[in-house]
Amino acid sequence: MAIQTPTIEILGNRINAVQPSDVLEIIDQHVASSDNGLLHIITADSLAMVRTTREPDFKKLMDAAELVVPDGAGIIWASKILGIPLPGRVPGVALVSQICENSVKNNQKIFFIGSKPGIATKAAESIKERTKANIVGVEHGYFSSNSEDENAMLQKIADSKADVVFVALGVPRQEEFITKLRKYMNHGVAVGVGGSFDVISGNLPRAPQWMQKCGLEWLFRLYLEPKRFRRMLDLPVFVQKIIHYRLHRQRVKS
Ligand code: UDP
Repeated sequence: MAIQTPTIEILGNRINAVQPSDVLEIIDQHVASSDNGLLHIITADSLAMVRTTREPDFKKLMDAAELVVPDGAGIIWASKILGIPLPGRVPGVALVSQICENSVKNNQKIFFIGSKPGIATKAAESIKERTKANIVGVEHGYFSSNSEDENAMLQKIADSKADVVFVALGVPRQEEFITKLRKYMNHGVAVGVGGSFDVISGNLPRAPQWMQKCGLEWLFRLYLEPKRFRRMLDLPVFVQKIIHYRLHRQRVKS
């Protein structure tokens, strides 16, 4: 069931108008009560928004997630254009560190799954050194969907009794994986974190501050990984859809 917070709607998707501190509080509350189901957090960006308009199955996953936080600068931009401004971003990379830092006070157990072999381990080591978080398992993300290996992975996570699971398999695979994890875990929190382990491990640099401030992280990512060009063609589609929605809504009102 969706977590009760202020929300806005972007291209038919609920976005929770929360800040990182709200997310930490929600996680603490959820983890403190047992057997209340797995809480799925989606760190949403504009590409995910466009995907929901094309892929009904992905839209269902988005609707089913208990918390959808505004990760990308595009979502913040859209909220302003639509006259429903969000308080700010909840960037996935920073959220991983913040959740781990916060986990120490309640001794929450953390699991890292995803990214290329070696990357999750490096990311987990770096986080552990900085935060002293209790990381109970680390696995890479290169196994086939709907396979024995995947089932074994889901079981391993459940057996670890993790309270927070970070899943870095990319969109939409991480959301599908977390949906499967619901059958294995009846408590805790799972967060889809895309390429966060690549950044935390130092495998990919994070965009410089000035680019983050200007909302240009996507451009930096494209500069680092030009092969992302194809999927980024959805960025202008997002801008077009938001402007269309705004103009249409104004026409309906006047
Ligand atoms: N990945 C993975 N298994 C796969 C495909 C991808 O673990 O089968 C990882 C990949 O190594 C990277 C992350 O998933 O660390 C995808 O990051 P990306 O930034 O592309 O995610 P998105 O933009 O889709 O959120």
